[in-house]
Amino acid sequence: MEIRVRNVSKFYYSEGKRIEALVDVNLVIPSNRIFTLLGPSGCGKTTLLRCIVGLESPDSGEIAIGDEVVFSAEKGIFVPPDRRGLGMVFQTYAIWPHMNVFDNVAYPLQARNERQEEIARKVARALHFVQLDGFEKRPATKLSGGQQQRVALARALVAEPKVILFDEPLSNLDAKLREETRKELRRFLTELRITAVYVTHDQIEALALSDDIAVMRNGRIVETGTPREIYFDSDRQFVADFIGHANFIPGTVAATGESGTRVDSAIGPIACAKKTGAAPGQAVTVCIRPEFIHVHTDGRGDGENVFRGKVESLVFVGDACEGEIRIGETVLLFRIDPTAAVREGEEIALQFDPRHCTILMS
Ligand code: ATP
Repeated sequence: MEIRVRNVSKFYYSEGKRIEALVDVNLVIPSNRIFTLLGPSGCGKTTLLRCIVGLESPDSGEIAIGDEVVFSAEKGIFVPPDRRGLGMVFQTYAIWPHMNVFDNVAYPLQARNERQEEIARKVARALHFVQLDGFEKRPATKLSGGQQQRVALARALVAEPKVILFDEPLSNLDAKLREETRKELRRFLTELRITAVYVTHDQIEALALSDDIAVMRNGRIVETGTPREIYFDSDRQFVADFIGHANFIPGTVAATGESGTRVDSAIGPIACAKKTGAAPGQAVTVCIRPEFIHVHTDGRGDGENVFRGKVESLVFVGDACEGEIRIGETVLLFRIDPTAAVREGEEIALQFDPRHCTILMS
């Protein structure tokens, strides 16, 4: 079921000040995809989700779910949440502590007065789907965090919603469980072929889980694309900076041609293979992610885009060492194999892959 959000704005008023939670948001969430709203705290993700669910009423604009307009400021339409056919999973598991697993999952069906055999059949199917067969009688409080989250998911699924919405559902889990649950969730949702809208401020979670991502900032959508498009191709500094680590090097376009663009910068000329619309003389910023920088530990290295400097810091993070190198006044981030023979204070050379040097226009 497709969701269309058209010109939606929502303002709050607090202590005499107007807070622009959503400003003229336009978005199409395609059917049967996992669509993530990603952005820093306070950018409006939850407000947008609540407007789609019907827990908030926007100040202007229109929202349609499939063929049905569920909100229109102009036409005075507001379909209440329980008639929008949506399921929701929150950050707090919101399962009933005094009920066992079966009763928790059966709750939406009991509320609809469905027949008992029908309820038993649907609950069994939902529990099987989240791999909790045999847990029916277990009190909800005697489950791990990950299991509780799966009960919440089963309860959302059992009602057979057209769309399911998630608000940071994994943020209370520890890192390892989060990763496992994320993988499971992607599998469930892909198998179900259901439209899922997912809110998170965690970039890794968004990249790993989503089919599409909309990056939000200050109540606005700044970019929409697949995880790869957002990660590799964004030409906006906010997006590149927010997602993963990146180096930003200011410079001026020196030459453009078929083979790419050369940018003069404080660390020297940088060859960028990607074509851009930038003209010679234009001020730009070159963005290069640490994983596309090759480190020559002997301080040498031939060819283009080789820059020498001194290692300022080096931090072991398990699967890699993350370092900073100073080249004149510029400090750049790099990553290196944790077993590599590099120490703080040593001279090394970095080589940028021109195919991954992105030019951001100011
Ligand atoms: P987080 O990741 O921290 O949950 P978010 O991106 O979901 O943030 P929202 O909760 O949508 O952000 O909030 C958007 C803006 O609206 C923020 O500036 C927030 O302080 C403000 N806001 C949200 N709800 C209210 C409210 N009920 N009254 C006043 N201001 C609000």
